[in-house]
Amino acid sequence: MNKIKKLLVANRGEIALRVMRTAKEMGIQTVAVYSEADTHSPHVKFADEAVCLGPPPSNQSYLLADKIIEVCLELGVDAVHPGYGFLSENANFARKVTDAGIIFVGPSPQAIEVMGSKLAAKHAVSAYGIPMVPGTEDAIADIPAAKVKAAEIGYPILIKASAGGGGKGMRIVEHEEEFEEQMNRAISEAQSAFGDGAVFIEKYITSPRHIEIQVLGDLHGNIVYLFERECSVQRRHQRVIEEAPSAVVSPEMRKAMGEAAVKVAQACNYHGAGTVEFIVDEQLNFYFLEMNTRLQVEHPVTEMITGKDLVREQLLIAEGNPLPFKQEDLRINGHSLEVRVYAEDPRNNFLPDIGRLQTYIRPTGAGVRVDDGFEQGMDIPIYYDPMIAKLIVHDVDREAAIQKMIKAIDEYYITGIETTLSFCRFVLGHEAFKSGQFDTKFVEKYFTPDKLDIQWSAEELKLLAALGVELYDRHKNRLQLKSDAGITRTKWKNRLI
Ligand code: ADP
Ligand code: ADP
Ligand code: MG
Repeated sequence: MNKIKKLLVANRGEIALRVMRTAKEMGIQTVAVYSEADTHSPHVKFADEAVCLGPPPSNQSYLLADKIIEVCLELGVDAVHPGYGFLSENANFARKVTDAGIIFVGPSPQAIEVMGSKLAAKHAVSAYGIPMVPGTEDAIADIPAAKVKAAEIGYPILIKASAGGGGKGMRIVEHEEEFEEQMNRAISEAQSAFGDGAVFIEKYITSPRHIEIQVLGDLHGNIVYLFERECSVQRRHQRVIEEAPSAVVSPEMRKAMGEAAVKVAQACNYHGAGTVEFIVDEQLNFYFLEMNTRLQVEHPVTEMITGKDLVREQLLIAEGNPLPFKQEDLRINGHSLEVRVYAEDPRNNFLPDIGRLQTYIRPTGAGVRVDDGFEQGMDIPIYYDPMIAKLIVHDVDREAAIQKMIKAIDEYYITGIETTLSFCRFVLGHEAFKSGQFDTKFVEKYFTPDKLDIQWSAEELKLLAALGVELYDRHKNRLQLKSDAGITRTKWKNRLI
């Protein structure tokens, strides 16, 4: 056992704060790092110690692996938590941290490497009987041969960059005629975006749901699954609303997916917290997509339904403790939803809307949690992801959780910038969402900016008209009263004279 005494969080914003909160609860000293754009950030104030890494751009601050390790050695830090994004899935960083004699709170560099490449990941799990999307197993080298394979799989197909991430590096090919051109473009795009031109093809699932399984593994070979999260409401292949459990996963399907996820983790000797992503078709067949070797943005919904603090478990695992629970000890309690509050304008193609948080009032109440990293009056920096906050609710079932989320969104009061809150409010009130019958195409299928305008029903319009008449009458009456009063006063005046 290697008790952690001082933890450096190599990240910013909400996740840096969230990790440090748990560390403090566990009696661990905390160190923040920050860029010049984040000097006044809550994560800097919250930490016991804080060190500025450099100018705002990430490659001059949050991505400076060597500088971060120097800070650790100077301040006597014994563990580094990478959060998500930035260096969290960088195997070289994990290796350098470990080589410096510091604990990396995450899996081994080897596991990060294998799962960081979608093709290497497919190879690693191939012996375990995990269902996979039909496609090619290796990088495309011979385009005519790949075209034959694509015809076998059947169009539409998806070309994917092996090194892709964050929804980037994917191309849909609808017809055979476009195959060569799209393939050539995909290869050169992958080369320039990820420095790795390896691409492969997969059957394009036309009505897919994105459902993922949270896993935890310790250093002694124990691995458990903490059930699923449904993340199908996405824009630009990036999620905006997540929930646990999913509205369509039965106990049998949950068990099958959970056991498959554990096998994926076993395939790379996984330890720490990780997520195995699956794509689910209309018949509810599930296929392995990839594994994310870090804490996910949406981890709180899993915490709400399992009652487990995932950061606490990460830190305990990193110290070498065996998992304190077994699969059969884990239960789902109620339902949880998360909406991501982005500084984006849903009326304008979800483009970032950077500016100052003029008013910022959070919702509160039983079962309402806000994970954020800003205060009223602060500017949202242009250099990083435009996520302001995550709003999470927990209630007894899905219907109650949706109602609670709608109330919480109505209570959230943000001015100065546009956010995704109005869009999320629209989704939660939509029949497709309420019934659970939706897929990753929700935005394309149901959303247009005019949906955010106030929609009056015929009944409401009648009421509005009646209200107008009433107001007009009162107004006219008041004018009458006023002139009556004038006459009276004149009369009095005359009498007095
Ligand atoms: P999650 O899988 O945790 O829900 P996302 O799928 O939205 O999060 O994004 C995956 C991860 O990639 C996140 O950690 C996010 O910060 C990061 N990310 C997203 N877009 C980019 C990008 N353009 N460059 C670098 N990292 C990105
Ligand atoms: P990333 O590394 O960018 O997260 P993923 O393989 O996890 O890449 O895919 C991201 C998203 O793209 C999925 O959540 C899903 O919406 C969509 N997607 C991925 N593969 C397929 C597929 N074969 N068919 C249809 N949609 C897909
Ligand atoms: Mg993914």
